[in-house]
Amino acid sequence: MIVTKKKSIEEILKALGPASKIFIVGCGECATTCKTGGEKEIIEMKAMLEANGKTIAGWAIPKAPCIASQTKLHFAKNKKAVDEAEVFLVLACGLGGQSVLENDRNKRPVYIGCDTMFGSILDATGYGFFERCAMCGECVLNATAGICPVTRCAKGLLNGPCGGSNKGKCEVDKNKDCAWVLIYNRLKDLNKLDSLKNVKPAKDYSKVNRPREVILGNKS
Ligand code: SF4
Ligand code: SF4
Repeated sequence: MIVTKKKSIEEILKALGPASKIFIVGCGECATTCKTGGEKEIIEMKAMLEANGKTIAGWAIPKAPCIASQTKLHFAKNKKAVDEAEVFLVLACGLGGQSVLENDRNKRPVYIGCDTMFGSILDATGYGFFERCAMCGECVLNATAGICPVTRCAKGLLNGPCGGSNKGKCEVDKNKDCAWVLIYNRLKDLNKLDSLKNVKPAKDYSKVNRPREVILGNKS
């Protein structure tokens, strides 16, 4: 789940500048769940843009605009409105925004209406989003009892706590559990405390050289 938050209408209007005919693209997955790019938010955005003199050529909510086939499908379904648009406004994460850019044959300007924050898990209430993975490319969960120190420790420490952990809480934010206390307790429950003796080397950040790519199978 990619967590997004809405940009202000002022920021969006500034980005759009004089462009007037806009096609709005939402997201049926993450941005709908985050209440930033579902049908309700698109209808609200449409009304705000129209109140500011813009024309909405149309709108669509691909299930996941970060997937080319989904974006192309919705462009085809809404061909007339898409053809009429001068620009796109994407209410989704930066992946969705760039996918729209890469899948628009006419290479029109694409503006983004959300800030992309982090990858999260969503709790059972449907309202709590918690960062649990930074996609570091070298997962250490097997050595940390399934609890990620990269995201859950404010300092991303790999080999135990800093000196500031106090009564199970983090010195950076006392409302949050110290990740290394959680890891220690979980390893203890699993009778695996010995694994703390294996000092982990510094992370190999060559594994996150950007932009990262994976091509499955033969591209042709
Ligand atoms: S160590 Fe943490 S950030 Fe890295 S891949 Fe595993 S869960 Fe993700
Ligand atoms: S108190 Fe714990 S979670 Fe906070 S920075 Fe130190 S080791 Fe990390």
